[in-house]
Amino acid sequence: MAIEDFKHLIEAQSLEKKIKEHLDAIEEQVSRVKHIEKQREISANAKSDLESELNDKTAKLSTKEKDLFESEAKAEKTNEHIPLARNEQETNALQKELDVLIPKIENLQEEILELMQTIEDLGEQVAEKEEFLKGSLISLEKIKGDSENEINSEEEKIKVLEERVDSLLSQSGEIYKTGFLLSNEKHRFNNPLCFVSNSACHVCRYTLNQMQASEIEKGVVTESCPGCGRLITPLSAKTL
Ligand SMILES: [Zn+2]
Repeated sequence: MAIEDFKHLIEAQSLEKKIKEHLDAIEEQVSRVKHIEKQREISANAKSDLESELNDKTAKLSTKEKDLFESEAKAEKTNEHIPLARNEQETNALQKELDVLIPKIENLQEEILELMQTIEDLGEQVAEKEEFLKGSLISLEKIKGDSENEINSEEEKIKVLEERVDSLLSQSGEIYKTGFLLSNEKHRFNNPLCFVSNSACHVCRYTLNQMQASEIEKGVVTESCPGCGRLITPLSAKTL
C-alpha cells in the first residue's frame, strides 16, 4: 500500500537528517585539526622567513665589523703619520684621509649597533615561533587523538542509521525506493520528499493540476515534482 511505503520513506528521510548531523560533527572535528595545522604552517613559514632575515643581517654585521676594524686600523696609522709629515701638503693629505675615515667609522659604529639590535629582536621572534610550534604540536597531538575518537564514534552512529535507512527502503516497494533514491541523488539531506499543499510542491511551489494532485494524494500514481525532481509524497502518509 502506497501510504505505508511512503511512511517508510518519510522515516528514512528523517534518519538521513540525523546522519547529516553526525557528518557535520565529523566535519567540525576535521576542521578543528585543520585549523591548528594551518596555524602551525603559518608560524613555521614565518619562522623560516625570520631565520633567513636573521642570517642575512648576521652576514651584513660581520661585513660591517670587518670594515670597521680595517677603517679603525687605517685611521690609527694615519694619526701616527701626521706628526711625521714632512710638509704642509703631506699633513693636509693625511688630514683629508682622516676627514673621510672618521665619519665613516662613526657611521659604521651606528649601523653595527642598529644591526645588533635587529639581530637580537629577530632572535627573540624566532624563539617565540619555536615556542609556539613546540606547544602547539603537543596540543595538536592531543586534539588529533580526541578528534579521532569523536569521529569513530560518529561513524559508528552513522553506520547504525544507514542500516536503518536501508532496512526502511527495503521495506518499501521498488518503485518508491527507486523514486526516493533518485531524488536523493540531488536532494540528499535537503528533503528528497515533498508534499503537495494547495496543489503546489511545498518546496519549489510548482503547481500541479487538481486531478494529478488528488491521484498522488490517494496513492494512485507516484510522481516526481516536475519543478524540483523531489518525490511527491501524499500528505496522509505524514500524519499516519
Ligand atoms: Zn518541487
